[in-house]
Amino acid sequence: MQKATQCVHAGTQLDPQTRGVNTPIYTSSSFEYLDRDDCPYPRAFNTPNQKAVVDKLCELEGAEDGLLFSSGMAAVSTATLGLVSPGDHVVMLDQLYGGTHAFATEEFARFGIDFCFVETDADAVIAAVTPKTRLIMIESPTNPLLQIIDIRKVADFATGRGITTLMDNTFASPVGQNPLALGIDVVVHSGTKYLGGHSDLCCGAVLSSRAITERIRATARNFGGSLNAITCYLLERSMKTLSLRFERQSANALAVAQFLAAHPLVGPVNYPGLPEFSGHALARSQMSHFGAMMSFELNCASMTASQFLRRLRLITPALSLGGIESLICCPAETSHERMSPQERQRAGITDSLVRLSVGIEDERDLIDDLSQALES
Ligand SMILES: *Cc1c(COP(=O)(O)O)cnc(C)c1O
Repeated sequence: MQKATQCVHAGTQLDPQTRGVNTPIYTSSSFEYLDRDDCPYPRAFNTPNQKAVVDKLCELEGAEDGLLFSSGMAAVSTATLGLVSPGDHVVMLDQLYGGTHAFATEEFARFGIDFCFVETDADAVIAAVTPKTRLIMIESPTNPLLQIIDIRKVADFATGRGITTLMDNTFASPVGQNPLALGIDVVVHSGTKYLGGHSDLCCGAVLSSRAITERIRATARNFGGSLNAITCYLLERSMKTLSLRFERQSANALAVAQFLAAHPLVGPVNYPGLPEFSGHALARSQMSHFGAMMSFELNCASMTASQFLRRLRLITPALSLGGIESLICCPAETSHERMSPQERQRAGITDSLVRLSVGIEDERDLIDDLSQALES
């Protein structure tokens, strides 16, 4: 089946009593256990509402099994700690999501896990691998510079060397990119972003083979970061429109990126869908939609990035991303605020860099708003 059909139908557990067309919300935390070997319990990650969403995500990502978590970071941290042991080495991109970066720098040492950060480049990843490397963690496109890494090259290298590959696919969503099909072992999502899509719920997911999911499930039971039935239902409902939303958001983003790229007060625009963007060819080869995240430099001596944000009337200066409404922020003041100015400089996060998450509004209204804020 195609993505749009999977979004609507996959995983739905029809109500046997009423024959209603939606999965009912099963709130029980206790289930009769006699004469069955799959007794559900919320923290065992096997309740009917968890299963409905996992089954939908498995179809969309081409996974055998998966787990739903109470946040994206619960998914990232539990998957990581389920896959590595003291003495193991992890290779990570320095452009990984800020929370994942902090998880490594603030927690790994206490677990005896060794790690290094490398630039967003497959050869840099391969060069950083040591005999103790057991896990490679990548993201593409990255936040906020939208850098693209050759996913298949990383996966091909790791296969057969006893190294597990984990990819955070949040920015592309399962509609835009399927890392498992490119050879990656484990996909994680912050469902708070595109999967939920309405900036009103927090959740995460891990998707993989049956064997790897079982390893992570054992750790997940101990850490306990499972998702409740009502949020599972909201997520399942949201995902029915994921394909519609993501396609519209990607189309809007291309129009907005083209407008910005042609504007004299805007410097380089980082958007994988622009032919002149450095990662365009690679993105084209591994993504089916270029997504709705972009960043750009304001090229205007008389206006700071935050002054520009204050002049917008429709696009909201707010954190997070992936919702139906367009959101904008200055990474130097938000996600990368804790870095020193020198570290930011090295990472390419200038004070005039603006990150935009494009929603499903009419593209003409988005362009009008950006236009009036640039010209006022
Ligand atoms: C937001 C985000 C996360 C963390 O997700 P939460 O739901 O906020 O815990 C992880 N990875 C990426 C790429 C994200 O954008």
